[in-house]
Amino acid sequence: MALEIVRLPVLRDNYVFLLVDRGGRRAAVVDPAVAAPVIAWLEAADCALAVVLQTHHHSDHIGGTPELLRRWPGAEVWAAAADRDRIPFQTRSLADGDRLDLFGRPVEVLAVPGHTRAHLAYVLPAAGDDGPELFCGDTLFAGGCGRLFEGTPAQLLTSLERLAALPPETRVWCAHEYTEANLRFAASVDPANGALQQRIRAVAELRMAGTATVPSRIDLERATNPFLRCRTAALQQATGAQEPVAVLAELRRRKDVF
Ligand code: ZN
Ligand code: FE
Repeated sequence: MALEIVRLPVLRDNYVFLLVDRGGRRAAVVDPAVAAPVIAWLEAADCALAVVLQTHHHSDHIGGTPELLRRWPGAEVWAAAADRDRIPFQTRSLADGDRLDLFGRPVEVLAVPGHTRAHLAYVLPAAGDDGPELFCGDTLFAGGCGRLFEGTPAQLLTSLERLAALPPETRVWCAHEYTEANLRFAASVDPANGALQQRIRAVAELRMAGTATVPSRIDLERATNPFLRCRTAALQQATGAQEPVAVLAELRRRKDVF
């Protein structure tokens, strides 16, 4: 039985994702920044909300959850145990390596600290006709990564490399439409990358047509995202650093002021 993934653009540049089990008339939602569009979609589709998956505690990811719980009081809330104080309405407290079931589909929990100290990613491995899916919040973006608010460059490098090691066809459902700006920065540090230049043209066309650039794919990120290319000669040269942690730290520092 296939899970349908629905992308709702909300606020300025956030994406909220619904994982819908049409046959079971139920759905899960990832990082509901706001509640109203989620409630409207679920009511129109005659689906009940069963699970809220939270990647981290920032308000543009958990802001809608309390209202959703008032509408569907039985819904579970999955979140990091380490964020119990900052996501107090959680009902399933998770840690790295946990495995859960979502409407018959296994879900693996990865701890990916860096953007925040307790950030989680959720992986749905391939099943039948459905490919692998990654919900990574603000850790990995299309063409970039989240800011280092609480973690160290070493933690973020480990987190990004764990995500990069997922199967190449994994779809990357990140929480913001930042791709165009991310690729402008990428071109400034990796100008000779032909795959990157090609992606910049493709993304410009998509955005001109008002189309989302999310989901991305792991193979595309590995080829074009500078933060996943910290071990390449091109990025070592651009940053003047050798060690991948130092390359990442310098890339992140420059992106912060780009
Ligand atoms: Zn965030
Ligand atoms: Fe965010």
